[in-house]
This record gives sequence, structure tokens and C-alpha cells, in this order.
Amino acid sequence: MQTQVKYLIVGQGIVGTWMSYQLDQAGIAYRIVNDESMPSASRVASGVMNPVTGRRIVQTWMIETLLPYAVNAYAAIQAKLNIPIIQKAPVILLHPSEQMKESFQYRMTHENIYLIHQDPTQWTPYFNAPFGAGGIDECYWLDINKMTRTWKTYLVSSEYYINAHFDMKDVELHENKVQWKNIVAEKIIFCDGIASMQNSYFNELPFAPNKGEALIVKIPGLPNQNIYKNTISVIPWKDDLFWVGSNYEWTFEDMAPTAAFKEKMIQSLDHFLKLPYEIVDHIVGIRPTNTQRRPFVGIHPTQNQLAICNGMGTKGCSLAPYFTAQLLAHLEYGAPIEAEASIARFA
Ligand SMILES: Cc1cc2nc3c(=O)[nH]c(=O)nc-3n(C[C@H](O)[C@H](O)[C@H](O)COP(=O)(O)OP(=O)(O)OC[C@H]3O[C@@H](n4cnc5c(N)ncnc54)[C@H](O)[C@@H]3O)c2cc1C
Repeated sequence: MQTQVKYLIVGQGIVGTWMSYQLDQAGIAYRIVNDESMPSASRVASGVMNPVTGRRIVQTWMIETLLPYAVNAYAAIQAKLNIPIIQKAPVILLHPSEQMKESFQYRMTHENIYLIHQDPTQWTPYFNAPFGAGGIDECYWLDINKMTRTWKTYLVSSEYYINAHFDMKDVELHENKVQWKNIVAEKIIFCDGIASMQNSYFNELPFAPNKGEALIVKIPGLPNQNIYKNTISVIPWKDDLFWVGSNYEWTFEDMAPTAAFKEKMIQSLDHFLKLPYEIVDHIVGIRPTNTQRRPFVGIHPTQNQLAICNGMGTKGCSLAPYFTAQLLAHLEYGAPIEAEASIARFA
């Protein structure tokens, strides 16, 4: 028996979750196919939305639009699912060097929107802070795993979720429709992270995957309403567990956790943290990054039954709500996609 829907989504990471949520809210028929044995960056993401970045502490791309949009969107999905997903969590910067302290002080007085003063003595019971402290306001922490798991439960109970491996070789492309197994859809939307690199229709996009690792560490007594940053980030995970990381590896052989990363984090924690800690896990993900650091959003130039929402890189949490909504408006009404994010830029 065939099932007719408007859209078939491939992948239920952050992007597939948001894509299906947008369709759900719009009352449009869809199915989502996901294979949990495939790699997922969303499963290991620390879940931070931070409006500034880098050594110069500059604002991230489009953040004045993306952040308020994302905060409202996460509040809405949180209300629908009736679980805590988003919390405001200021970043406490415990400067790692005199140079970083000066960089912070410079930015405080030059085009500053998000930086705030911090009293370092508040943090010295927990951390060594010889170069003082600063703060970033308007940062948020998201429980991405809880969100995607709970949304999956909803998808399964609604019979929208297909637990299977998607392979392009099982797809029949017809004019204005597409068939995958017993699903007939007008379009397939690829939200499958780095798996799109193997998709013959999208493998010319300039993906540049980036490996990132993190330790999950128990730190009893450390307040879990903040994000702490020195040379490493210490981020609330759940209960008294914290996510500690990360690295950004452009060349790597495989997805295995490395002893070198673990050793480096232990050295950093021993140097930075005053509280005792216990490592409980070591996790790894591949970020769907690209050479331009901009998303890949749009319809395939010659196969209009195929669309993509991908390339979220290091910022899937803040980019996914906005660009899935933009893709949907484009698919349904021909609304424009942000030029820097649209795959039409490669035409
Ligand atoms: C260590 C680390 C820390 C990070 N921290 C942050 C952070 O704090 N904030 C932030 O904004 N971003 C962060 N990121 C980046 C973020 O994780 C990504 O931008 C985001 O998760 C990408 O989401 P996605 O849905 O595109 O891909 P993915 O999460 O990779 O999802 C792809 C989905 O497709 C499924 N799939 C793949 N192939 C198939 C197939 N053939 N058939 C069926 N299903 C398939 C997979 O199972 C998966 O569910 C971090 C990444 C890493 C690695």
C-alpha cells in the first residue's frame, strides 16, 4: 500500500527535527526517515547558542536575526512537548591569558552588545582565574538530546517516523514526484548531515567535515546554570554532568575518540578546575561544516523533487529553526532564501 505525502525528510538530527516541526505546524503531510546507526552531530552537540565568537569576540553571522528567532522557536517547541529545552545560561569567561583579557576589555568599549562585567571572586572557589573574568549575556543552553528524543516519540506515535536506512538507489524520480519504497512524495528534503556528502545530487557542495570530541564529566558542586570558558568550555549537560570540549579537526581518519584529546582535556581541567571530577564518557561527532561557513539551503538546480537543508557547521542550534522555516516558505510560496545560505549561489 502506498502512502502519499507532500514531503519526505531524510534525517532527524536538529535540522530534520526542525524541518518536521515546521511542516507539522503548517499542517502539511510528511514522513521522516532516520537511521540511528548513522553518525549524528546533534547527538554530541553541547547545545550552546552564543552570539559572539573567536579571539576577537565578534558577533556571529546574522545573529541579531537568528537569535531572537531561535529563542522564540525553542520556547514554542518546549511548550508543545511540555519538557524543559531552553535555558538562559550566561558564559563566564575566565580569561586564559593577559592577551585574551585585553581583547575582552577592548570589545567591552567597542561596539559591545553582549559582553558584561563579572566579579572573578565569585568564581575562584571553582576555578583558577589569574587573569580575571568577563561574561557574555544572551547565551542559551539547549537540551538537544531531550528535544530530538521527545520529538521522535511524537513522530513515532503519529506514525510519521520511519526507522530505516535511506539509500538514493531505492528512489524513483518521476516528473514532479518521487517514490521511495512505499512513500510517494512531491519532494525529498535532505537533512542528513554529513551523509549528504555521499549523495550524488549534492556531493558537489563544498562540504569540509570537521571532527569534534567532548568528555562528559561529573563535577559535583559546580553550579549548572552557567557555561564556563577558559581554553576549554565546561557546559551543563544534565544533573551534575558537564560537557567538556572541544577540538576542531579538519583531517581525521575515522570517528574514534582519541587518547590525545582526552589527555589534553585532563591537563586543561587539572589546570583550570579546583573541584574534583570524574570522567564518565568520551563522545565524538562530525560537524557538517563547509569552506564558506554558510548553510546549504534550497532546491536542486535540475531535479526539483530534491531539496536540502544542511551545512550548519558549528552553529546548528541557532541556524536550524530559521533556515528550515525559510526553506519551507521557499518550497510552498517561492519566498526567497537568504542569498548567502541558498545553494543557488553555486549555480
Ligand atoms: C563536538 C560538537 C559540539 C557541537 N556543539 C554545538 C553547539 O554547542 N552549538 C551548535 O549550534 N552546534 C554545535 N555543534 C554543531 C551541531 O552539532 C551541528 O551543526 C548540527 O548537529 C547539525 O545537525 P544536522 O541535523 O544537520 O546533522 P546530524 O545531527 O548529523 O543529523 C543527521 C541525521 O541524519 C541521519 N541519517 C544520516 N544518514 C542517513 C541515512 N542514510 N538514512 C537515514 N538517516 C540518516 C542520522 O542518523 C542523523 O539523525 C557541535 C558539533 C560537535 C561535533
